[in-house]
Amino acid sequence: MSSKQSIRNVLGLAHALRGTRAPAGFFGTPELPSRSFRSMGTVATVTFGAAYADRIEPVASHIRKVFDRLEREMSAYRPDSAISQLSQKAGVAPVAVTKDTYRVLNLAQHFGRLSNGTFDNTASPLVSLWGFNGAPIPAVLPSDQAIQEALKLVDYRRVVLRDGTAILPVKGMAVDVGGIAKGYAVDLAYEYCLSSGIRDFLVDFSGNVRAAGRPSWSEGWQIGVRDPFDRSRVIGKITLPSGLAVATSGSYERFVDIAGEHFSHIIDPRTGYPVSGTASVTVLCADATMADALSTSFFVAGLKGAAELLKKNSLVELLLVPDRYPMDLWLTPGLDKAFTTQRTERRHMLTCL
Ligand code: AMP
Ligand code: MG
Repeated sequence: MSSKQSIRNVLGLAHALRGTRAPAGFFGTPELPSRSFRSMGTVATVTFGAAYADRIEPVASHIRKVFDRLEREMSAYRPDSAISQLSQKAGVAPVAVTKDTYRVLNLAQHFGRLSNGTFDNTASPLVSLWGFNGAPIPAVLPSDQAIQEALKLVDYRRVVLRDGTAILPVKGMAVDVGGIAKGYAVDLAYEYCLSSGIRDFLVDFSGNVRAAGRPSWSEGWQIGVRDPFDRSRVIGKITLPSGLAVATSGSYERFVDIAGEHFSHIIDPRTGYPVSGTASVTVLCADATMADALSTSFFVAGLKGAAELLKKNSLVELLLVPDRYPMDLWLTPGLDKAFTTQRTERRHMLTCL
């Protein structure tokens, strides 16, 4: 199977292997109280330990409201969101943004620096050029000139944040926080569950997962990592230590076909082209915002750039699957310990340079 074929037949994200979502009897787990709802164009699920069953309704309903508010503020698809306003006013005037949007923009800039620019929330003109975020899918490949023009508008360092306002200094610049906002939402949900007195819970927002405590039958919540080449399977499971987060970025999540070629939704802000060479990246680290931003970053960095990025992010654990056949898995030592699999793919150790 060629790498192009291989990414064609897959769809899905890391998800929690538990209760109703796990294939029947997979890990022999009993059902737990859980609530799922749609937000930000995808599905979120909140699961509680059995002891908190009577609390799930009000807590999940509050979380849903928070996620929907974040979507209204930060969606690139809604012309009235603060993020869209910011893009519309690029080169013209600052825009007052809410506390959460301000924090997300700040964190995005922070992860831009930590990722050597592989995470760039101003990649939006490129994201649109390649037919994502509601832009028309081009019939032919974007020209080199169009890519170079769009690249001139991409630089996370140029977003100016001051006193609750944000401005993009050049007309045509645009922001897309799609690579970090779900993780941020999960962290808010995590804090809310804790402050509500829930000790055993898991929040999963389209593969951005954070959990506390454990289900009663296991020493930790177990997170299945999708096989990036076969959506119906998992390549293994991660036992998530309490309080930590996991996120997966996959080339199979969203893609476009242009002139018979397959392109992933994650764009390399250094070249202007969709990333090729990585099938999926799973990050395990301290919180969900970081996991979300860095899974996108390591996806861009790929196997070649991962060791260099790990130097700056030494507390991050990583599972990287290159887009090639036969599949092989690259893991940092910490993730290697937390990861169990029945599969026989070759496992390699990833360490920083
Ligand atoms: P994720 O699924 O978290 O990896 O985020 C992917 C989304 O982030 C894409 O659908 C785009 O909206 C946006 N994006 C694409 N490329 C980048 C990039 N290099 N840096 C930051 N965000 C990006
Ligand atoms: Mg991300």
